[in-house]
Amino acid sequence: MIRAIKNLITSVTKGSSQTTTLTKIPRSEHPISRRNISEAALKSLYRLHKAGYRACLVGGGVRDVLLGKQPKDFDIATSATPDEVRALFKNCRLIGRRFRLAHLRYGREVIECATFRSHAPESPKTELNDEGRILRDNTFGSIEEDALRRDFTVNALYYDIADYSILDYTSGMEDIKNRTLRLIGDPTTRYQEDPVRMLRAIRFACKLGFEIETEAAQAIHEQGHLLRDIPSARLYDEVLKIFHSGFALPAYEMLREYDLFQYLFPALDRYLNQEPAEAMLDFIEQALVNTDQRIAENKPVSPAFIFAALLWPLVHQKVIQLQAEKVATLPALQIAGSEIFSQQIKTIAVPKRFSQISKNIWNMQPRFSNTRGKQPQRLVNHPNFRAAYDFFCIQSMVGLTTHQLCQWWTQYQIEHPPQKPQRKPGHRPRRHRGPRKGTTEQS
Ligand code: ATP
Ligand code: MG
Repeated sequence: MIRAIKNLITSVTKGSSQTTTLTKIPRSEHPISRRNISEAALKSLYRLHKAGYRACLVGGGVRDVLLGKQPKDFDIATSATPDEVRALFKNCRLIGRRFRLAHLRYGREVIECATFRSHAPESPKTELNDEGRILRDNTFGSIEEDALRRDFTVNALYYDIADYSILDYTSGMEDIKNRTLRLIGDPTTRYQEDPVRMLRAIRFACKLGFEIETEAAQAIHEQGHLLRDIPSARLYDEVLKIFHSGFALPAYEMLREYDLFQYLFPALDRYLNQEPAEAMLDFIEQALVNTDQRIAENKPVSPAFIFAALLWPLVHQKVIQLQAEKVATLPALQIAGSEIFSQQIKTIAVPKRFSQISKNIWNMQPRFSNTRGKQPQRLVNHPNFRAAYDFFCIQSMVGLTTHQLCQWWTQYQIEHPPQKPQRKPGHRPRRHRGPRKGTTEQS
């Protein structure tokens, strides 16, 4: 049993007063050790602390360690303003429009460092739209206020570097114990302020294996339509987090169950609601299983593959229609691919560099049927061959192509590895600067 020290704190925000109970859990009574925290995060926390600021780990970094999981990244909350953070760290970059954040870069690792902010819809610094959505929010606040403006109770636990205690303002520890995802405050209001919280609820429920608390779950069905107002670039980021969380299949099923899928993939949702081909349903599921497996095995995954898989039933359907109108297969694939993507990017802004690879994956599919002459080697040499081959084999697993052909290509690659392109005389290779965020290949 945790011997908690209880304090009553009343945090008064402009025009409204909220009462929070702080439960402080000393180091001796919680399992988070500095060994669970990355060196970069610890270094940042200590530097802020030594400069006289409050500095805590918060969000997934605390939640996941408490659950015995490896955090994806570490987020810091501090009393230092973004400018004060920048003055302390050479490796700091300020980002963000909705609110300003500091990114501290240590090689490949980025620590996100946010100033304590208040949840103050009445503040002149908080811009809301007509539906109550927060457009800009830069009101700095106390740590208690910062806890209350966070989304879920389990995301509002602070690991204080000053004495290694955990600060719990929202009964998050209780919800960790009961494996419950509970919004802080009234769920409808919190979804109206930021509808992306509904997508986050699905992502965390799947990733953590938590139950969404009843009211918060119910409100998703009622407020889902608010996702229509979210900029397509933000939806792209969120959708990618969902499908690359390692729980793509349960998340896909849950998005459908909560009627949210229609706001992300409207055309596919319509297709799924109208007697879809059984093999195509299996194909989507198998592609998501494959992605989840790759993540479990620490293999690279690509946004291009996810979009190629999810949009394939629509492309396939359109190709069949065009072929019936006597359009040849490759042009039909090209027309269908462009049409389906130009519709899709209205809701989710897939960057061109990825949609082009998805199109390449589709366009290469018929070439897997040609196993004669120099064609196979040409295909193997294509930069997107591995993704296209994975895609082809998933089709074979659900009966959309044959097992024999998939096996033929598996064997062929072993005997004929890809040949490196010949360099032109005088051509100097470009210096490799390391991968950009989100540019990994599913190979
Ligand atoms: P993970 O990094 O594993 O995806 P996380 O909980 O750390 O999970 P982040 O997106 O990194 O999620 O955000 C860090 C923290 O910021 C969250 O835990 C939460 O406290 C807060 N937060 C993020 N997005 C929102 C939001 N839309 N509304 C309220 N709080 C948010
Ligand atoms: Mg995080």
